[in-house]
Amino acid sequence: MLDKGVVGALEAELEPGTVVTDHEVMESYRYDRALTIRPGRPVAVVRARSTADVQVTLRLASRFGVPVVTRGAGTGLSGGSSAIDGCITLSLERMRSISVDAAAMVATVQPGLLNVEVKAEAARFGLWYPPDPSSYEICSIGGNLATNAGGLCCVKYGVTTDYVLGLEVVLADGRLVRLGGRTVKDVAGYDLKRLFVGSEGTLGVITEATLRLRPPPATSSTVVASFGQVVDSGRAVVQIVSSLRPAVLEMMDGAAITAVERVRPMGLGPDIGALLLGQSDAGPHEVALMAQACEQSGATFVAVTDDPDEGEMLMGARRMAIPCVERLGAVLIEDVGVPIPAIPTLIAEIGAVAERRSTPIPIVGHAGDGNFHPLVIFDPADPAAAERAELAFDDIMKVALSLGGTISGEHGVGVLKADHLAAQLGEVAAELTRTIKSALDPRNILNPRKWV
Ligand SMILES: Cc1cc2nc3c(=O)[nH]c(=O)nc-3n(C[C@H](O)[C@H](O)[C@H](O)COP(=O)(O)OP(=O)(O)OC[C@H]3O[C@@H](n4cnc5c(N)ncnc54)[C@H](O)[C@@H]3O)c2cc1C
Repeated sequence: MLDKGVVGALEAELEPGTVVTDHEVMESYRYDRALTIRPGRPVAVVRARSTADVQVTLRLASRFGVPVVTRGAGTGLSGGSSAIDGCITLSLERMRSISVDAAAMVATVQPGLLNVEVKAEAARFGLWYPPDPSSYEICSIGGNLATNAGGLCCVKYGVTTDYVLGLEVVLADGRLVRLGGRTVKDVAGYDLKRLFVGSEGTLGVITEATLRLRPPPATSSTVVASFGQVVDSGRAVVQIVSSLRPAVLEMMDGAAITAVERVRPMGLGPDIGALLLGQSDAGPHEVALMAQACEQSGATFVAVTDDPDEGEMLMGARRMAIPCVERLGAVLIEDVGVPIPAIPTLIAEIGAVAERRSTPIPIVGHAGDGNFHPLVIFDPADPAAAERAELAFDDIMKVALSLGGTISGEHGVGVLKADHLAAQLGEVAAELTRTIKSALDPRNILNPRKWV
């Protein structure tokens, strides 16, 4: 049998304990956090300890023509690391080395470290690794690289790709390639490393990265503003971003706040239409201007605090929003992005979709980036509600595209949005995408779900 063949070959070449076939153990490697997606069943989970293990796995998978789903920490929200029937799930959780070169201001990391561990090790040298997805305590740096993860401070400090100087990648046939290096500037040849950042395990497996670090920012002050009308919070964002560089600018609408309040009460009333949370590390002047922009855009309450604990408490509430909303039902998690001036229109249109489809859609977002997560809630036991939710999910992506935006600002295409990528790319870019995929993975073994 083909499947037995590849498993036997893997077991013969890899150290004992690396290849897992126990069904109970494999169960925990089937899912990611896109909870509406039904994953398949792997034939084996390879828990790689080294780049050499990854090379062996891909060489054999290629030879046997078996699909490989690479897995970091499985916190993805688009189904990218959920298993495919008959696949090898390649887990990188055991590849966890890190070394910091403080003089060069770089960290060389293996993919299995959590984002929070990379930050902590950089901090030991007085340095900072900025990208901070809300899931930073539970997601891997390899997953961040593979999804080009964003986060809260990305509005000022950029996303994952902005910190990648070099990559080590294992290609589909098991060959190893090193791209980029440790230099800050490098324009020799195509920037191939950027092709792999955000490629969601479809082009190669990232086994090491050299990441740029920077000095930590000054302590932040926080502004919190509540709005009666959710669209007014969008207007405030446009005004702030057009003239200031906030370090964080996040939004939660009233329904998202209510969901968080149920889990962690903060005394925020049900009459709030939206909350804007901003931070500045550029001094009191900038925070005052952010507060002023909120007032001018119709905020009903504005407060500023220099207390870092208070600021962190508010940001913590924002980070909890998605899991808190998930307690209300099944959730299709949107991730649309639009150009900044289009934010108020996007927010208004999401409200219209919710009404038209009779479906609750709380909104949270990295507002300063124009990247929002409308959370389409439905009762999975009610087929009509599920159908309306699917339609609402599609409607929101169409709205984003009509505003010159994107179907995914940070979570990636995965399985959840695979049917929608072509609509954004257009014919020529879709053809280019297929050409690149078949050049790098001619046997189509790496996350072989059809994107375009
Ligand atoms: C509560 C919550 C909040 C979140 N907030 C944010 C946020 O603010 N910003 C954000 O961007 N995301 C956010 N996410 C989504 C998720 O945490 C990120 O996408 C993260 O980068 C995934 O990392 P992971 O290690 O869990 O990857 P996984 O889910 O294991 O994998 C993600 C994708 O990357 C591929 N992959 C993983 N590792 C490698 C590798 N080494 N080489 C090649 N391919 C690989 C997988 O095949 C898959 O396609 C959130 C998730 C949750 C649950």
